[in-house]
Amino acid sequence: MKTLSCPVDSIEYYNHDTRRIFLKIPEGESVDFKAGQYLQMILPTNKKCPFSIASAPSLEGMVEIHIRPTPGSEDSKIIETLLDEAKVIDLELPLGDCFLEKAPAGPLLMLAASTGITQMKSIIESILPGGLEHPVHLYWGVLADKDLYLSDLCKSWEEKDKNFHFVPVVSEPETSPDWQGKTGLVGNIALDDLGDVSDTTVFVSGSPGMVYATLDLYVENGLPEKNMFSDIFSYAPRAK
Ligand SMILES: Cc1cc2nc3c(=O)[nH]c(=O)nc-3n(C[C@H](O)[C@H](O)[C@H](O)COP(=O)(O)OP(=O)(O)OC[C@H]3O[C@@H](n4cnc5c(N)ncnc54)[C@H](O)[C@@H]3O)c2cc1C
Repeated sequence: MKTLSCPVDSIEYYNHDTRRIFLKIPEGESVDFKAGQYLQMILPTNKKCPFSIASAPSLEGMVEIHIRPTPGSEDSKIIETLLDEAKVIDLELPLGDCFLEKAPAGPLLMLAASTGITQMKSIIESILPGGLEHPVHLYWGVLADKDLYLSDLCKSWEEKDKNFHFVPVVSEPETSPDWQGKTGLVGNIALDDLGDVSDTTVFVSGSPGMVYATLDLYVENGLPEKNMFSDIFSYAPRAK
């Protein structure tokens, strides 16, 4: 793991609140990370805040992250100000043991909540160029349809490989009167659609509550616990 001061290359809004940030790896340095790992942004207060790396390792000289502010969070306010003003951002990277270097030898299910899509983006952009021999299902759960800021990109992956399938899910449809797609909790919807998950590898990205509820549901429905992977298992272990 390295600590680097990374110049800001670009920052732009995807939608009403989520920003895409490209940070340059300083000259003479390199970063060796695996798709699915995360970095920590070091705030002026010295607090370290984790963000999944959204780019694939094949992108050289740069890392991409997506940041959505958390209402009511002091750290989030500091991060937003940093994004508005900073020319250089200090990072610690790479971290995390939830990564994928090549597609598994069986079906893969990716369950992403909100900005959890970033971790899946890095993984998908790494495994798609080699071709998919088994089905890969990406289910992306958001509160409202306006939060689906990467929908076009996810749909473009379907066009690249017939084994890739993308399903967006809105959990608060009352906020999205024009939404015609699936509604409910992302993990439950994927389980209803797929049925048998006993030989599936499952990656989950989201809050601890979402990840542990998904783990319990899937294990009850026949998924071997060892087949589920999430940063949360090491970042926020479940209280005994
Ligand atoms: C491994 C990891 C990766 C994250 N990646 C991102 C990201 O790519 N973009 C982003 O905007 N925020 C991400 N977050 C959340 C982000 O770190 C916090 O929003 C940020 O530190 C500001 O603090 P807070 O007070 O909002 O949140 P906190 O109260 O510190 O955290 C909010 C809660 O949301 C969970 N969470 C939110 N988003 C994610 C996510 N994508 N993956 C895993 N857990 C999540 C956190 O574990 C935590 O329980 C990630 C969190 C973790 C643990």
